[in-house]
Amino acid sequence: MTATEIRQAFLDFFVSKGHTIVPSAPIVIKNDPTLMFTNAGMNQFKDIFLGEAPAKAPRVADTQRCLRVSGKHNDLEEVGIDTYHHTMFEMLGNWSFGDYFKKEAIAWGWELLTEVYKLPKDRLYITYFEGDEKEGLEKDTETHDLWKALVAEDHILRGNKKDNFWEMGETGPCGPCSEIHYDSRPDSERAEVNGATLVNADHDQVIEVWNIVFMQFNRLKGGTLQPLPNKHVDTGMGFERLVRVLQGKTSNYDTDVFQPMIQFIAEKSGKQYNSAAKPGDADWNEAVAMRVLADHIRAISFAIADGQLPSNNKAGYVIRRILRRAVRYSYQYLGFKEPFLNQLVPLLANQFKGVFDNLYSQKDFVQKVVLEEEISFLRTLSSGIRRFNEIISVYDQGTFIKGGSEIVDHIPGVNTISGQAAFELSDTYGFPIDLTELMAREKGRTVDIQGFEKALQEQKSRSRAATAIDTGDWVVLKDDEGVEFTGYDETETIAHIVKYRKVTAKGKEQFQIVLDKTPFYAESGGQVGDKGELVFPDGEIVKVTDTKKENGLIVHYVDQLPDDIEDALTAIVDPALRSQTNSNHSATHLLHAAMKQVLGSHVNQKGSLVNADYLRFDFSHFAKVTDEELAQIEAIVNQKVRQNIPLKEERSVLYAEAVSSGVTALFGEKYGEYVRVITFDDEFSKELCGGTHVKATGQIGFFKIIAESAVAAGVRRIEAITGVAAEVYITNQSKLVEQLKELLKNPKDLSKSVESLLDENSRLKKEIEKSILEKSSGLKNDLAQKVETIGDINFIAQKVALPNAEAVKNLAYQLKDIVSNLFLVLAADFDGKPSLTVMIAENLVKEKGLNAGSIVRELAKEIKGGGGGQPFFATAGGSDASGLDTALAKAKSFIG
Ligand code: ATP
Ligand code: MG
Repeated sequence: MTATEIRQAFLDFFVSKGHTIVPSAPIVIKNDPTLMFTNAGMNQFKDIFLGEAPAKAPRVADTQRCLRVSGKHNDLEEVGIDTYHHTMFEMLGNWSFGDYFKKEAIAWGWELLTEVYKLPKDRLYITYFEGDEKEGLEKDTETHDLWKALVAEDHILRGNKKDNFWEMGETGPCGPCSEIHYDSRPDSERAEVNGATLVNADHDQVIEVWNIVFMQFNRLKGGTLQPLPNKHVDTGMGFERLVRVLQGKTSNYDTDVFQPMIQFIAEKSGKQYNSAAKPGDADWNEAVAMRVLADHIRAISFAIADGQLPSNNKAGYVIRRILRRAVRYSYQYLGFKEPFLNQLVPLLANQFKGVFDNLYSQKDFVQKVVLEEEISFLRTLSSGIRRFNEIISVYDQGTFIKGGSEIVDHIPGVNTISGQAAFELSDTYGFPIDLTELMAREKGRTVDIQGFEKALQEQKSRSRAATAIDTGDWVVLKDDEGVEFTGYDETETIAHIVKYRKVTAKGKEQFQIVLDKTPFYAESGGQVGDKGELVFPDGEIVKVTDTKKENGLIVHYVDQLPDDIEDALTAIVDPALRSQTNSNHSATHLLHAAMKQVLGSHVNQKGSLVNADYLRFDFSHFAKVTDEELAQIEAIVNQKVRQNIPLKEERSVLYAEAVSSGVTALFGEKYGEYVRVITFDDEFSKELCGGTHVKATGQIGFFKIIAESAVAAGVRRIEAITGVAAEVYITNQSKLVEQLKELLKNPKDLSKSVESLLDENSRLKKEIEKSILEKSSGLKNDLAQKVETIGDINFIAQKVALPNAEAVKNLAYQLKDIVSNLFLVLAADFDGKPSLTVMIAENLVKEKGLNAGSIVRELAKEIKGGGGGQPFFATAGGSDASGLDTALAKAKSFIG
């Protein structure tokens, strides 16, 4: 079976068991502070498990793109070294939301593997949970017994909490699980060593294929397990591993999922891929590098396609690090010194056409982003190599260098590169420690790894301390049946507190509150969260400083809890802020549509921010938007504003219908089966959007773009304002023009008269420069006459009337050319700012040990100032011009 057929067979099988197929969620997670990237198929259902959202269907199945490169599930360091852990992989899964449980899940898993895929039963091993006393969890005998009916007893193994109790993260849904492993060793080896002893023992031919989790608990902050409202099934099968097993391969990279990519890389690098290479073999590093590339490009491309650009923090930084790991391998072992990784993007996009189309439709954009990142990292890499060589040369000289970013802890004579230096290379130049080690080895040196680890740990704890947030568990006051958002219809709602918790960040205590009903819009889709008040019957007012989403919840941020926490309250959104935000949000839709008209349909939203003050819109576009284009866009938006188009809001449209009717959906957004569609004129702007809007475009008043800039490779940004803010902006601009006109005595043509002013100015400047030059060459001859010969030194100390430092410097250099053995001190007064200049012939510097720098510093005391420079030329400035004569008189004392 081909990979495509294998995937389809999985989905078909579960359809035949009454499952609905759902789309993969994006790989990048928004709205969940506990997770950056999707690490399992169940993530998108977390709120259903927690009882915070209803299930849309009782049984679903899908293939989910996952990424395991951070947090609890992090396989990054394994990837490429082994043959069955990837950064990005597809997880095939089937779910029951409070519907079927262990019996069906186990029976169907077995049926699919052994009857549909026809895997030999004697190569399969099962594990089940043995219980855990500390957690108060019992042995899962039910699962054991269910398997016993299907599988030979000696293929059913007990497993501990580490392997058989699955958890999504530090907190969140979890439960006992039952894994299915596959032994792909040749018969001869199997006869020698019993496969059962190799399960969960990191053997690369006895690998876990499928995990069936029985979701029953929520892990709370303090570690407590809280039973979930319902019992669920959550399964995850690694697609690439399944394909490998079914295609009879010993490495995921030997299947048709990876081979086209591997072969492309091999061809371009002019090397052969040897799947069988072992550590220590001559071609081992090359094989690892090819696997790393073939794997990492998937993580990078899908993250970018789902809206996560590489950057310097958080999720963006994780992606940047993966990209750099790939570039480093290809640079170091495959000889790619020029950007190469980006060339893999089109290949990948084609491969995933029809599976995850979001990549194909953005492939040019993704490729461009990868290219730019590669260029900038290759640049860093080569400056890192330069830095490395500097460090080595310092070591070769055996010198001990202190201070700044220099190597502070080198002990001459020791052939070890200090931990601090290795850390600098990693931190500033993105050099992984093994690259530093390798380069050091090539120069016959080692690296102080312990010192490096220490420096790394220190940095980690510094940054952890800076961002530590302590989130308490929810205190539940009332059972909630999901939260009702009333904010599309009203800004005031009577409600009750359902639960609250305490949050401590940077020593400051705050509270988060969930209401059963709320008009407060929670930050999402770029629109900021609402601010406002919770008003209690006894008159107490609790201010809401922000509102955020967490999975299905709407969380209100407050500084204090009310006295009477169980009372009914009135939740009131700040109406002025909300109405300005509405204007900016609706204007963003009009802007998006206008941009597609003016710039072309390739313009896709890459991020946006909408608050009460302004709107910011990031979009894919490869060139600067010209002033004419901006003017056109602005004109279209303002025309739509004047047409006062009424808002058409459809709250529940089938996603598939909406998209086929041409609604703009955003990449990287997670949409449910039903979506909300916001339309301003059917022919003009139709977007999927959960935000709040004006009732008709006329409310926007007026739209004005105030900035256009670049934010990343292929991504540009427009900032704009509306309504009163735009009015004030224009009023100020026109005031400014009035002031300018007045200053210029109300000329007929303002720009012409500014132009001629500038011309005049530059002409005068040139004339002045010319006359200064004439003056200083006159001065040069005068001064040359005033030489006082003291021993073999020609001494001049004079005050000169020149207007600036440049002119004095010129004069000093001219004198040096015509007077030999010169010791020159010039004093000048630039509009009340005294200055001193010292010039000493180079032979005097050498022979007499005179130093212009120290002399000028000494003289500068007379004018209450300071300065410095080189031994033959130095200058000083000061604040007391009356000291210039004393300074000149003092100068002679430096001779002899
Ligand atoms: P392993 O012990 O092999 O790392 P796991 O216990 O981390 O696996 P689960 O969290 O149970 O795996 O994930 C479910 C399935 O997803 C696994 O059975 C496996 O087939 C697949 N899988 C897990 N991690 C990866 C990965 N990094 N790359 C490819 N497939 C993976
Ligand atoms: Mg794992």
